Amino acid sequence: MTSLIVKNGRVLDPASGLDEVATILIGDGVIKRISGSRESLREQIIDATGLLVCPGFIDLHTHLREPGREDKETIATGTRAAAAGGFTSVCAIPNTNPVIDSQTGLRFIISRAETDACVNVVPLASVTRGQCGEEIVEFGDLVYYGAKGFTDDGHPVMNTEIMRRALEYSAMFDVPILDHCEDLLLSDGGIMREGFVSTKLGLKGIPPLAESMQVARDADLAEYTGGHVHIMHISTAQSIEHIRRAKARGVRITCEATPHHLTLTDEALYNFSTAAKVNPPLGTANDRDALVSALADGTINCIATDHAPHTDIEKDQPICDAPFGMIGLETAFPLLYTRLVLTGHISLQSLVDKLTRGPAGVIHLEPRGTLTEGAPADIVLINLDKEFTVGAEPFFSKSANSPLIGEKLCGRIETTIVGGKVVMHNRVFA
Ligand SMILES: [Zn+2]
Repeated sequence: MTSLIVKNGRVLDPASGLDEVATILIGDGVIKRISGSRESLREQIIDATGLLVCPGFIDLHTHLREPGREDKETIATGTRAAAAGGFTSVCAIPNTNPVIDSQTGLRFIISRAETDACVNVVPLASVTRGQCGEEIVEFGDLVYYGAKGFTDDGHPVMNTEIMRRALEYSAMFDVPILDHCEDLLLSDGGIMREGFVSTKLGLKGIPPLAESMQVARDADLAEYTGGHVHIMHISTAQSIEHIRRAKARGVRITCEATPHHLTLTDEALYNFSTAAKVNPPLGTANDRDALVSALADGTINCIATDHAPHTDIEKDQPICDAPFGMIGLETAFPLLYTRLVLTGHISLQSLVDKLTRGPAGVIHLEPRGTLTEGAPADIVLINLDKEFTVGAEPFFSKSANSPLIGEKLCGRIETTIVGGKVVMHNRVFA
């Protein structure tokens, strides 16, 4: 049996409290021993001296675009981008074409992942048929065939009665509803956050209420039904307040924030950059600071990328016509490490926690997300001292719609191991 040893790295696992130089012995795809002696004669050895060794990151929010928009991304290219960013598991958002709302769709994702993916692909299904917001899907059937959660992401569930029923059904199967909160009557074709910058640029704004009012509504619905609602990509200070209050009264509510909402503001659109056009839109410095505080105090459960690849042709349009979204898998860790950890806003432990144990807890992926003995050997090795320029090397993603191109960031993902198999080593894929 071939095994693998990762030796002499700084092993950091917030879930088990481990933070020391240690050696990890891997066999049969799982962690056999940490700091153990060498047992196998045919092991492959990776010297991690000077590197950080963490549980592989988990992304709850990845748009892999397959089936339907393989010109933007595929399961093959999207999972390579994930591995290059240190992610060993990604949740496939089902707003594909066709929408993943049936057993057939789930089977396609699962079988395509088996042949094409280099990291674990966690299938999600839509809340409503075709994401039309009118009729809920067969929850029990889809959970049986592998759906770990339900989301109409890309669109909100506008109909309150349907959201109520969805939360009731999801509670029966103990899976979360992943919730894109946006009151479409309030966002009403807006391009960016409503405020000083949108006024100056003359672009139609989206008021922060468009998000926070649905957060409040769905917190109340989760409380009433006992369902678990997970608020995706929160972006406003008011949304955080609603979540904080709901958590204090015991509501089953969790939330994620994206690397871009945690580090950028609406000022990134001053040059009409379509790369910074995202939904929900980038907020003010006040929103960003509130998000960072909520990450530090635990109100935010996890970081999720909302990796949303688009072609150059689409993003090169005038800002009003370009689609919302930016890629994020390959820059998530270095961006947050450089802008939040090196500046003293959050600890390295906290950042790793929000990329590992945090997301694993939301969709019940444990024992993924930790480096304990017997857990799947999903591991990432990072050179924290290595500085690089975003875009200097091509992205592994099929798309390059990132506003960070040209930025210097610290913290390079060097090696990614999935199920005991080295999928990327020294930035080269196996
Ligand atoms: Zn969304």
